[in-house]
Amino acid sequence: MKIGILGNGQLARMLALAGKPLGLDFSFYSSGVDGCASALGDGTYCAPGDARCIREFADGVDVVTFENENVSPDVLDAIPVDRILPSVESMRVAQDRFTEKQYLENLGISVPEYFVIDSERDLLRALHKSQSPLIVKTRRQGYDGRGQMLIHTDQDARTAWQKLGREPDSNGLIAETMIAFEREISMIAVRSQDNEIRYYPVTENRHEHGTLVTATVRPDDPLQSKAEDYTRRLMQTLDYVGVLGFEFFDYRGELLANEFAPRVHNTGHWSVDGAICSQFENHLRAICGLPLGDTSMLVPSTMCNIIGDHPDLADVLKLPGVHYHHYQKQPRPDRKIGHITVCEHDDRLMREVVSSIMKMFGSEGT
Ligand code: ATP
Ligand code: MG
Repeated sequence: MKIGILGNGQLARMLALAGKPLGLDFSFYSSGVDGCASALGDGTYCAPGDARCIREFADGVDVVTFENENVSPDVLDAIPVDRILPSVESMRVAQDRFTEKQYLENLGISVPEYFVIDSERDLLRALHKSQSPLIVKTRRQGYDGRGQMLIHTDQDARTAWQKLGREPDSNGLIAETMIAFEREISMIAVRSQDNEIRYYPVTENRHEHGTLVTATVRPDDPLQSKAEDYTRRLMQTLDYVGVLGFEFFDYRGELLANEFAPRVHNTGHWSVDGAICSQFENHLRAICGLPLGDTSMLVPSTMCNIIGDHPDLADVLKLPGVHYHHYQKQPRPDRKIGHITVCEHDDRLMREVVSSIMKMFGSEGT
């Protein structure tokens, strides 16, 4: 079977790395330059708006999937809807933070208090009404904390509107109450074409400046079954096929949904080394109509993102239980260019190893 992936970044690359042993072939679509997945399959480059080129790409594969939910409508319109998994509908819901929050609320899933912002006045009003700091986000196109600002004062609100309110393709802003959460967690799950759902154990995530730094999986998280319940509601309502990542705040014993991604997710990368079947293989199994793999954890793991520059490889490989994943991307400040997974049963040793890695990155936290 041949899989067409919209995008050729690291998620496309890791999907292909998981699919090759199953005998799958890959074709990567992009409108730009070569990406880091290209070495693992054919590349198709179409000029923006070239519907015929995109159609030919889709006709040349058995199923189309994507590594990023911000695919332009031009591209989606050119691909027959029954050829794309997960569905275009799930992508549309996730593309806009307002649509996404409404959708989740309709399923009885709690989200942080939020305000839809179309003007500076809206933002000032929201700030006065909430009486707490707000995180202002563009409705569309944000990732890794980009397109977001924390505001406390009227002056902050004016600056945020100036900076974010006029961003192209943002579709306006949303302002959320800043949640003083105890933890951030996420659920990775996979649903098959005949409604079987399998859940990975939830990860506990740590961010710095809005970017994911580590994701840790341990057995028996107290919020596992609540997160499974929310994820099941979402996947069934969307008639979802494939892997989905769902981010939550653990706040005063309550689970508040932050956002979901209709694709394989950064907080699921640990599963390549720490689970029986990885999120990447399971995504491919689901979209190809194959039996799902076991999502059980083999060993507690922490995934550490490599951001900006690579550490010395030998220094990392000296540490016990580590697996290095180099994405073959050009290093650039703030860019995710790889990850390291630490697999370790002894929690104290795990923390020590992660702390050594964080020191190499100039970060003190674990
Ligand atoms: P990513 O692509 O990394 O998932 P993103 O750009 O889509 O990020 P969010 O997930 O909405 O953006 O926000 C990034 C991070 O900012 C969150 O993981 C969390 O740490 C922090 N954050 C976002 N919204 C809130 C909130 N309402 N209260 C507290 N912290 C928040
Ligand atoms: Mg997020």
